[in-house]
Amino acid sequence: MSAQQPYSFFHSVEKSFDKAAKFTKWDLGILEQIKACNSVYQMRFPVKRDDGSIEVIEAYRVQHSHHKAPCKGGIRFSDEVNQDEVMALASLMTYKCAIVNVPFGGGKGGIKINPRKYSEYELEKITRRYTSELVKKNFIGPGIDVPAPDYGTGSREMAWIVDTYASLKPGDIDAVGCVTGKPVSQGGVRGRTEATGLGVFFGIREVCNMPDVMAKQGLTVGIEGKTVVVQGMGNVGFYCAKFFREHGAKVIGIAEYEGAIFNANGLHEEEVVKHRKATGSILNFPGATNLVKNTDALELECDILIPAALENVINAENAPRVKAKIIGEAANGPCTPEADDVFAQKGILCVPDMYLNAGGVTVSYFEWLKNLSHVRYGRMEKRFTENLNSRILGQIEELSGKKVNEVERTFIMHGPDEVDLVHSGLEETMIGATREIMDIWMSNPEIPDMRTAAYVSAINKVANSYSELGIFP
Ligand code: NAD
Repeated sequence: MSAQQPYSFFHSVEKSFDKAAKFTKWDLGILEQIKACNSVYQMRFPVKRDDGSIEVIEAYRVQHSHHKAPCKGGIRFSDEVNQDEVMALASLMTYKCAIVNVPFGGGKGGIKINPRKYSEYELEKITRRYTSELVKKNFIGPGIDVPAPDYGTGSREMAWIVDTYASLKPGDIDAVGCVTGKPVSQGGVRGRTEATGLGVFFGIREVCNMPDVMAKQGLTVGIEGKTVVVQGMGNVGFYCAKFFREHGAKVIGIAEYEGAIFNANGLHEEEVVKHRKATGSILNFPGATNLVKNTDALELECDILIPAALENVINAENAPRVKAKIIGEAANGPCTPEADDVFAQKGILCVPDMYLNAGGVTVSYFEWLKNLSHVRYGRMEKRFTENLNSRILGQIEELSGKKVNEVERTFIMHGPDEVDLVHSGLEETMIGATREIMDIWMSNPEIPDMRTAAYVSAINKVANSYSELGIFP
């Protein structure tokens, strides 16, 4: 809790849930069960630091819902970690997975450390010890609970986790599926790195392809020519900017920690990142204008604003000055509930984080499936498809007497690689989820915004799966 936010993070998730629950048919008992965190494991364990001192580490794993198995959710390393935060993030994972039809319950883990204050060796010891604590209490496993990277962790930590788990479970043929976000060499999947940014792009593109929605926002249909501002050039923001630019949008503003830049003719994210690496800042990028404050980028005139950095960046104070017509929440929680109220008054369409940034967990699901099937995507069908396409193309050319051009030939002949299948599965998922949420929103004029419609979608799916299990009548 903070002075600006009078209630805890978990409580604020519960409030959003209650707001949406009014638009569902489920009785109170079912709703209470969906909201509750099923299992909370708080642990403490000692670690010997490099200087010989002993430190007691505080850590958590929360399994919010077991309506599907396994549970799924990242592990965060941050000195801000606390039980309330992990519970809130675990519950959001339940709803996020339900919306994008990823058959997992929500989970989340956290270790209360600032990883920058520990050596690599110390981090490895902490990660391995945390994993063995999870194994001891049956809180990890390919059919139980499958962690992933989150704030402060990455593929390196996931590789330590899978190695520890496998060594404690000799002979478990599915051990590699105990965690996702692994390096490809350790059982990871191609396409995970760009998954969240690409999912954001697919979700917003689908919204922009809806003529009624675009007419309401005063915009033309499609992505081509739309102006975009991105806050944050980390993993998510970089790939958002890249996919929007590659599909004909113009990225006119970019904000980073140290400042923001603007160019009405468009910015190239790779050049901006190169410039930042060379000079230590995105400021003074050739051809662009520096903005006075980095937050000024959020107030630029544009069609689509993508906050892809931190939470609470658009709030009661600055929301009235936001001029974007669409906000795509790539970060987790970038807009406060008070900002939502302002958007409703101003007619700004806010596409909610809960489903829009679900690309990461969707591709994690594909990684887990790959691990359980023990075969790389595309291995069985790539060559077969290429041979088949070659025969079909040969027949068409023979019968028509015309040759297909080289670009088309390469495209038609190509059999799917792992990354093609992962991207296409992600595209299907994001398009499906966008349409479902829009249908819910449009079918009930009393649902105030897309975020509430997303919660309604999640609640209905979780409640339905409980009733299918016969737990509820
Ligand atoms: P990241 O650390 O790679 O990037 C964040 C970037 O934001 C950094 O470059 C940082 O310098 C910048 N930044 C920090 N403060 C800023 C400020 N005040 N103004 C402008 N830029 C600022 O993190 P990420 O993985 O890209 O995650 C970004 C957000 O997306 C987070 O909210 C995260 O929870 C969410 N998210 C990430 C994923 C994923 O797969 N990485 C999945 C779902 C949600």
